Amino acid sequence: MKYKCQICNREIDDFASLAHIKTEEYLLELIRRDHPEWHESKQTCHKCVDYYRQLIKDGEI
Ligand SMILES: [Zn+2]
Repeated sequence: MKYKCQICNREIDDFASLAHIKTEEYLLELIRRDHPEWHESKQTCHKCVDYYRQLIKDGEI
C-alpha cells in the first residue's frame, strides 16, 4: 500500500511505525514546530522520523 508522507510529500511504499513516534513527545514537538499542520496521526515516512530523531541525538536542538 502506498501513502504520502505529510512532511516531505514523497510517496512511500512501506508504512512507518507511528506507534514509535507517539511515545516520543519531544520528537512530536520538533516536527510540529517545523510543520504546524502536521499531526501525529498523519502519515510520516521513516526518513523524516529518523531525521528528527538524529537532530535530538546530535543535540542540535
Ligand atoms: Zn517524509
